[in-house]
Amino acid sequence: MPELPEVEMFKRYLDSTSLHQRISGLEVRDAYVLKRVSARELARRLKGRRFENSHRHGKHLFVRAGDDPPSPRLRRASLWLRLHFGMTGSLEYIDHDEVLPKAARVVFRFADNCRLAFDDQRKFGEIELIGDVDEFLQTRGLGPDALEISLCHFKAIVGKHRGAVKAILLNQQLIAGIGNLYTDEILFRARVHPATEAARLSDKDLRRLFRATRYVLERAIALKTDFNRLPKSWLLPCRGKRGRCPRCTRALQSATIGGRTSWFCAHCQKRI
Ligand SMILES: [Zn+2]
Repeated sequence: MPELPEVEMFKRYLDSTSLHQRISGLEVRDAYVLKRVSARELARRLKGRRFENSHRHGKHLFVRAGDDPPSPRLRRASLWLRLHFGMTGSLEYIDHDEVLPKAARVVFRFADNCRLAFDDQRKFGEIELIGDVDEFLQTRGLGPDALEISLCHFKAIVGKHRGAVKAILLNQQLIAGIGNLYTDEILFRARVHPATEAARLSDKDLRRLFRATRYVLERAIALKTDFNRLPKSWLLPCRGKRGRCPRCTRALQSATIGGRTSWFCAHCQKRI
């Protein structure tokens, strides 16, 4: 399931392949992923524009669709394409003679006949047109991005909410971008048991948790979210049945916390 690091990779991929080209048309192969916009409306509003830049917030990717050619005089209302990758979403840029991926739901065609496909096997992804990113974030009540948040803000959010620390890190309304897998990694690195009541974390614990959040997300991006390249000291490659703690080699345990299956080492991650 794409979390912040994966969506950041999609952003970079889109930036390196699909910006500044005239959108000559688009094909909606499955309208299920469209939110609050019809296939016809999506095509009508995007045709003739070009993707200018993109912005990621948490697990959402926003792509600005500007005029083509750029026209400072003829200012149309700003338009953003919002992409959410659900459970299996991804992007694929293909040449005109290449075959589309099987699960391509929406395909954007550029003037040179290259295409950008929004691929999503399980169809939990979302595509929407919005006028203003900040307004969207506010309406959705999304918290600050997990890589943008300051230590001070992080401490205020995590330390002041009741409940298991894992549930708080997963709550997109509090901090946006972290999902089930990376939360487990962050808590493992910070040596905090996922069920720890957040209010019991000391100032030092919160600082360690903040540093672990930054480190894990940034490192995952630097490794291009390739799970085969993750350091041996990480929990993720060991996560699962018969998995052993990479630190103390004891058997890992699992429990449902915050509604999700959590893996942790009960020895290294003491409940505070
Ligand atoms: Zn351990």
